[in-house]
Amino acid sequence: MSIQGIDPERCNGCGICIESCPADVLYLGERRPPWAGGWVAQIRYPGDCHSCLLCKMDCPQDAIQVSAYLEVPQGWFPYPLPPSPSSPRAESR
Ligand code: SF4
Ligand code: SF4
Repeated sequence: MSIQGIDPERCNGCGICIESCPADVLYLGERRPPWAGGWVAQIRYPGDCHSCLLCKMDCPQDAIQVSAYLEVPQGWFPYPLPPSPSSPRAESR
């Protein structure tokens, strides 16, 4: 998962992040408890997030936390990525 959370105290329910997300990860849900009133952005499909940061950049309330790690969905690269220089596999060459 790369989107970490949405701060309900900061979120004002504007819905901008829902429009920004190209992966349909977010939705506007009713604020809980119901008597609190209004709407709040929530995470619906965290596994579909690919850390593009669009929601975070567009949020006027700075309410969204996204992991600093870029997560690339399986199948995006047609070939295996080379090992990093510090990995044991690279050192044994
Ligand atoms: S853009 Fe920010 S303030 Fe607006 S709904 Fe999304 S998280 Fe809430
Ligand atoms: S980081 Fe990108 S893919 Fe993930 S929830 Fe935000 S807009 Fe959607």
